[in-house]
Amino acid sequence: AKKSGRNKYMMFTPTMNDRAVTRQSIEQALHRALEKQEFVLHYQPKVSLDTGTITGAEALIRWQRPRHRLVSPKQFVSIAEECGLILPIGKWVLHEACRQAQDWLQAGLDLGQIAVNVSPMEFHGKNFLSGVREILNDTGLDPRHLELELTESGLMQDSEQTAATLLALKHLGVQIAVDDFGTGYSSLSYLRNFRIDTLKIDKSFVQDIDGDAGEAIVRAIIAMGMSLKQRVVAEGIETQHQLAFLQSHNCKEGQGYYWGRPVPAEEFATLLAGKTFK
Ligand code: C2E
Ligand code: CA
Ligand code: CA
Ligand code: CA
Repeated sequence: AKKSGRNKYMMFTPTMNDRAVTRQSIEQALHRALEKQEFVLHYQPKVSLDTGTITGAEALIRWQRPRHRLVSPKQFVSIAEECGLILPIGKWVLHEACRQAQDWLQAGLDLGQIAVNVSPMEFHGKNFLSGVREILNDTGLDPRHLELELTESGLMQDSEQTAATLLALKHLGVQIAVDDFGTGYSSLSYLRNFRIDTLKIDKSFVQDIDGDAGEAIVRAIIAMGMSLKQRVVAEGIETQHQLAFLQSHNCKEGQGYYWGRPVPAEEFATLLAGKTFK
């Protein structure tokens, strides 16, 4: 036992060290990335399931790290959250998304809404609201064109402050979506306490549509959203079968590789100019 314990020690320590070193170097690189403006936003259409029209775009961050392939947010957003860098990064994302949205609107493109992901740490930060106001002012974007996507875990914390922030956003005219709906803390009380505009059915349920449990959950979420007068957006739609199921159960909007992956701004503008998917 002693020997295997020692072996474990020998085996795990270097790996853990590697990991810590990797994390630390990613952290430092993220600092530089902010200064050097290495982040870029890609945009994925939200589509009306009735008409195929684009109803909005979700802005998704990527990192153009020098001498690397485009880095996915899965590889750095949680590190940025842990070290607090998500605050300045999130502010950049919001500003850039609003600036781009206003740019498209002024070019006469019918964008609908721009959706921006907000991590719990940003949302609960004391300067969040003033940051949103400042960015809307600065970019001139009409708040009705902005939707913030929050996860359930973000909505479950500190409910008094959450309620106040959501109310202030509502008064501004900003829309609120619950992202990854159904995967977080499974208390639904926040749906009663807060006015949520949109539920985004998590892609894991959509991808389960071929199984009975997945279908039942998707149907239940659509029904609940309808009776609460919320928009319901299904994410992660990849197949004709998933689309047909969602359409037949009265889901009105969707997002997914079926229409397209997130693309750079210029490409998204071309999509917008076409406006409708066939
Ligand atoms: P999310 O907010 O749930 O975003 C949807 C993710 O699903 C995106 O991954 C998108 O590319 C992917 N996706 C879209 N359609 C499909 C599909 O049909 N099939 C599959 N398998 N995937 C699909 P992405 O861009 O890699 O982003 C991953 C996550 O990183 C996001 O998940 C979000 O939690 C986070 N993230 C991205 N951008 C930001 C940001 O600006 N701020 C913050 N705080 N988080 C962000
Ligand atoms: Ca999202
Ligand atoms: Ca999501
Ligand atoms: Ca997610």
